[in-house]
Amino acid sequence: MGTGVQTILERIYSASMPDQADIEAVLHATTPPDLDVLFDFADRVRRRFVGDGVLLRGIIEFSNVCRNSCEYCGLNRQNARLERYHLTHDEVLAAARGVAAEGIRTIVLQSGEDDHLDADWLRRVIEEIKTQLDVAVTLCVGERSRREYQLWRQAGADRYLLKIETSDPDLYASLHPGMSFENRLRCLRDLAELGYQTGSGTLVGLKGQSIESLAGDIQFFKTGDFDMISPSPFIPHPQTPLAGEPAGDLTMTLKMIALTRIVSRNAHIPASTAIGSLHGRDERPRALAVGANVLMPNFTPAPYRRRYEIYPNKRCVNEEPGACPGCMEQMAASMGRWIDWSRGDSLKTESPANLVRANDN
Ligand code: SAH
Repeated sequence: MGTGVQTILERIYSASMPDQADIEAVLHATTPPDLDVLFDFADRVRRRFVGDGVLLRGIIEFSNVCRNSCEYCGLNRQNARLERYHLTHDEVLAAARGVAAEGIRTIVLQSGEDDHLDADWLRRVIEEIKTQLDVAVTLCVGERSRREYQLWRQAGADRYLLKIETSDPDLYASLHPGMSFENRLRCLRDLAELGYQTGSGTLVGLKGQSIESLAGDIQFFKTGDFDMISPSPFIPHPQTPLAGEPAGDLTMTLKMIALTRIVSRNAHIPASTAIGSLHGRDERPRALAVGANVLMPNFTPAPYRRRYEIYPNKRCVNEEPGACPGCMEQMAASMGRWIDWSRGDSLKTESPANLVRANDN
């Protein structure tokens, strides 16, 4: 690399909008010394802005029914081989109590984009979780109307995850037939305005994705000032149009996580289950070492868990719910880190949720 990577990283870190060429230069870095500088830089930013604690988010995948045809995703509606399911109200509540019983104080409710998902059903689930348990509720159920987002927010939902998947509008269009990039942006705006702590993210290694698009993703994260951000590797699923494509590259994913940490400073960034599943090795410790500070143990009840197959060979589908936290405590400890058992709310003082709180006082 011409100019030292350290100098470029300092520019990226302090810029109000980092230069596309600087980000691309870092994404092109391949030599171990350059990568070490990048990863150390990101790890220092992580330590300074979010500390050594690793937050846990217990995820319940309550339905795999989906109306969409995202070309990378195993839940896409063309996949006729997938047995679809939808947990009942009582099953979700039982799973949620299981999360809380482990001392985990965030429950993520995730599903495909189910046309038949009754907004009022989810409202009652949220209300009951919030009444019974001392937890934050994060929703991840895709694109819905502002009215529905508002209903769920009023019911007590605290956070919402909606990955942009790629910030490159042309690439987005090629991978999401029948969907609209504009509508996804509209959803992210609505969610932030309604006071949700908002998360977005991208897939790394998508067919047709260039270094330019990945650099654009980093700028998108900077502009969005999200409370949570997840760059995560694409893993090909046999029942999708991208079945024959290679998986996202681990090093590129780590570079994206490191740059995300450097530009976002205090966003919560997961070491995703996909990183833990790539090539059958658990690379989550490496993600934690280059900027990530969140792990997402799975609490989907055993009979359904393997059917939430967004990609194949997902880590821990055969574990009993509740097996993960112990394993994650060991993972954190092996790196000189520790599990932070707090709710892990947004650290952004500018976060809409924090502004709402400030106005309450
Ligand atoms: N319907 C919800 C949840 C989708 S599944 C929504 O649209 O937000 C959650 C995430 O899984 C997606 O955002 C996507 O980034 C990821 N995902 C889907 N297919 C994948 C694949 N083949 N490899 C890796 N991650 C994938």
